[in-house]
Amino acid sequence: MTKTTHEGRKTLKNRTKLVHAGRHPFEHYGFVNTPIYRGSTVLYPTYADLLARNARFAYGTVGTPTTEALESAWTEIADAAGTVLAPSGLAAIALALLTAVQAGDHILVADSVYRPTRHFCDTLLKRMGVTTTYYDPLIGSGIETLCRPETRLIFLETPGSQSFEIQDIPAIVAVAKAKGLCTIIDNTWATPLFLAPHRFGVDLAIEAGTKYLSGHSDLLLGLVSANAAWYGRLRETYDTFAMCPGPEDVFLALRGLRSMELRLNEAQRQGLIIAEWLAGRKEVAQVLHPALPSCPGHAIWKRDFTGASGLFSVLLAPCSQTALAAFLDGLTLFGMGYSWGGYESLVIPFDCRGYRTATTWAPAGQALRFSIGLEDTEDLKADLAAGFARLAAAA
Ligand SMILES: *Cc1c(COP(=O)(O)O)cnc(C)c1O
Repeated sequence: MTKTTHEGRKTLKNRTKLVHAGRHPFEHYGFVNTPIYRGSTVLYPTYADLLARNARFAYGTVGTPTTEALESAWTEIADAAGTVLAPSGLAAIALALLTAVQAGDHILVADSVYRPTRHFCDTLLKRMGVTTTYYDPLIGSGIETLCRPETRLIFLETPGSQSFEIQDIPAIVAVAKAKGLCTIIDNTWATPLFLAPHRFGVDLAIEAGTKYLSGHSDLLLGLVSANAAWYGRLRETYDTFAMCPGPEDVFLALRGLRSMELRLNEAQRQGLIIAEWLAGRKEVAQVLHPALPSCPGHAIWKRDFTGASGLFSVLLAPCSQTALAAFLDGLTLFGMGYSWGGYESLVIPFDCRGYRTATTWAPAGQALRFSIGLEDTEDLKADLAAGFARLAAAA
């Protein structure tokens, strides 16, 4: 058990890797799971060892057996050269961007990125002398026309945050490779189980472990995986920041990792049931679910992804704020709140007007994003149907 090396496991299926990756029971008295190592100081047995920094772990910020277990497991699952951890998904985004940019650079960022990514580019990166141009996520190889001599990187997120546009990764990576640009993807929605970005030639891939890796809405964590060309630089940036997560959160993420495929497949199955049901409701104008043909870029999703997670959006037929409030406020199973990917279903209204700059967001009605959890879908439908009845009554 887990005596096979990382290399020896390359041919195994993801399900098997998820169970075995990052575990070394006989380094821990046979206990199946790597325990929580807490600590700052690491002792060196002799002066010579100290001078040579001859220790597997040099200091608490640099890593522990617990963090190493998650890093190595993720590296295996993401088919990467290496992984670093961060205390949140947003911290992982910052780490990836700061690995690649320097003053004077120009970067290309999808107009549909997670909004705090945009804030990071528009404030901190701007102050550092980095200029950002946002591009239409459906641009594909047309991105070439936006590249300047000082362009350093292209940042992708697919599907787009809230609006779910699917990007043409191979077309964009081909342009980046031809021009020697770094590519970064926020892969939180698909996870490496439904999209393996490094196999498409993407350099750095971000995962908000807060979502499906945790799966229980009880921790914050980020991961950045890198290919061989970028891992050294990524690790160096990580060490410079010492932006390390807490050991309990890493342990919980390792626990989540073991069942991630099971939960993700169920989120996919349940999400599709609810998305298709919503598509048949007269109150719904459009469902933005990458596995449904009504989603922009659906054909590309089919070509590149191996699955869909349980997060999608709907555009409602126009209704008043009062009617929307009646729908939302009476829901008993769907919670209203940020984040997603937990075992519990969530709904949140959103509006991309006012901050997108390369695309126009102008649906006729209100927009809602759903994260479908592990409840029985008949119960979820009944909760939503009662909501639509309240909405109609309030109209
Ligand atoms: C939630 C999220 C993040 C940020 O993760 P946190 O751990 O909440 O900081 C980044 N990217 C995407 C796509 C997300 O949904």
